[in-house]
Amino acid sequence: MADIIQLLPDHVANQIAAGEVVQRPASVVKELLENAIDAGADVIKLIIKDAGKTLVQVIDNGKGMSHTDARMSFERHATSKIKRAEDLFQLSTKGFRGEALASIAAIAHVELKTKQELDDVGNAIVIEGSEVASQDIIVTPTGTSVSVKNLFFNIPARRNFLKSDNVELRHIIDEFHRVALAHPSIGFVLYNNGSESFNLPVSNYRQRIVNIFGNKTNEKLVPVNEDTEVLSISGFVGKPEFAKRTRGEQYFFVNNRFIKSPYLNHAITSAFEGLLKSGTHASYFLNLTVDPNTVDINIHPTKTEIKFDDEQTLYAILRSAVKHSLGQFNIAPVLDFDRDPNLDTPYSYKTNKTSAPKVEVDRSFNPFQEETKFKTNAVAYKKESPANWESLYVGLESKGNQNQEDFSSIQFETEEHSASIFDKDIQVEQSHTTYQLHNKYIVSAIKSGMLVIDQYRAHQRVLYEDYLKNLTVKEAASQQLLFPLELHFSTQDIEVIKQLKGDLEHIGFVFEIMSEEALGITGVPVGVPESEVSIILEQLVSDVQNEVPDSNFSASDLMAKSLAKSMAIKTGTALKKEEQEHLVNTLFACKEPNVSPTNRATFITMSVDELDKKFI
Ligand code: ADP
Ligand code: MG
Repeated sequence: MADIIQLLPDHVANQIAAGEVVQRPASVVKELLENAIDAGADVIKLIIKDAGKTLVQVIDNGKGMSHTDARMSFERHATSKIKRAEDLFQLSTKGFRGEALASIAAIAHVELKTKQELDDVGNAIVIEGSEVASQDIIVTPTGTSVSVKNLFFNIPARRNFLKSDNVELRHIIDEFHRVALAHPSIGFVLYNNGSESFNLPVSNYRQRIVNIFGNKTNEKLVPVNEDTEVLSISGFVGKPEFAKRTRGEQYFFVNNRFIKSPYLNHAITSAFEGLLKSGTHASYFLNLTVDPNTVDINIHPTKTEIKFDDEQTLYAILRSAVKHSLGQFNIAPVLDFDRDPNLDTPYSYKTNKTSAPKVEVDRSFNPFQEETKFKTNAVAYKKESPANWESLYVGLESKGNQNQEDFSSIQFETEEHSASIFDKDIQVEQSHTTYQLHNKYIVSAIKSGMLVIDQYRAHQRVLYEDYLKNLTVKEAASQQLLFPLELHFSTQDIEVIKQLKGDLEHIGFVFEIMSEEALGITGVPVGVPESEVSIILEQLVSDVQNEVPDSNFSASDLMAKSLAKSMAIKTGTALKKEEQEHLVNTLFACKEPNVSPTNRATFITMSVDELDKKFI
């Protein structure tokens, strides 16, 4: 038989490698920015057109490349950064795989211009789909400019796979933020479709965070600093009261490289334990410096995952450093906002003279003795818990006799049950009664059997159709706020809100954009509590930014979905009988009662037949 194995031609190998390195325009941004940093630049400009689909260009003032290097840089495994495998363990550069430029050139039109400081002239190279189209001597400033045009021009499937401009731009900006946060000593500028979106001058770390996320961020930051033999930590965590619904502002950098680590994230979450409202996430911007020898960043082609030699120790140090900072900067007292007013001293007591508290010690107390007070209490409590169901009945019996009224409802339920089995008429009447299960489901009898409604999804459906109607057909009533509410957002978030202003007004929000970072809200949709407004808007902005274009996207649809999600009664909320019934009725008055706005079942039914089968 003839031999059939061949070496892949270079351009094919490059395309395959590109699949790993370049997933979307943001990946190109990351690779080019990192190359500029490795070249020692102190000012880096990023130029984006059409969310990077038309153009991603990075211009740096770094050391540039020689005539030969300029050509070599596009070869696969061509790198100036490592020479031997051992160098991998002493990395001080971002790149080292020598794959990025070769991969990008395989799937785009690339133009490189570069000049070294001591040279009078520089080089320009044009490469399209791995083919060198031209190389010329040109006059150009010291440094390098790489333009990547028409990404995936030769892989239509990949191009079609790209998300909407909104989503791709979001990824680019995320990448830009990550790189800029890791390098405050480098100036960065981002131009998007011809206008300057970010201009981040050389600064310290705090200032860099503030320049990216808005002036209001400054007061939210708590410094974290820790220096140990294995690890040093510097950076900031966000005060718990400013924690966000979305995970956006969570950044770990290890030796100035952004990394994702669910494990270390957990360390921080656990340091915040008890300080965050449920459903919110702590922000953090933390730089970890470790001996390069003790980490392996080679495990992922995009280098965002990392392997530490001793993860457990890092976890412990990180957790305690964050805890320490939160304690030191007196974060705990902010919880007082939520304190129970019952704990305050009643007014009449305040004038009373205080007397020194007396401590009474029960000298006969022996914790090992069987019959202690605690023990008896525990037993009494246990008696009432359903786990001990026999004793429950014992209690019912005796207490029931003493106080008939207390148990009337229980008896009534039993009566009803037995009656419904034998009496058809009662069964019909019963179809209107509802029962809430685990503060999550509403159970109701229907003629054919049983109906179980997911309260959160059902309410989302009801609100969604309501909002959609308001957005497209009529304007909703607005509820005037007594005092205008000033809310702060990042500059980008404000941009998004600006675009949605008309729609937001349709559903009842009344507001003004006060500055690049603040909104003044004077009216909210009826039924929206003031305390929820910022959470709702935050969720909305994040949903718009992460919108998935293939699911029949329209702005009003997305908005109705997002608001319905924020406003719907959540799982875990106890509902009164009337509320349960109202929800059931409004759900079945909807156009599409059987699915939530995100296409999940809102209810299930189980027929008597099915139930019967379960009892066979
Ligand atoms: P890597 O960064 O892993 O070495 P790349 O494909 O990204 O691989 O780049 C290949 C080589 O091209 C780099 O090692 C570097 O020598 C050179 N190079 C790339 N971009 C620049 C730049 N902006 N300035 C100077 N040299 C660069
Ligand atoms: Mg590189």
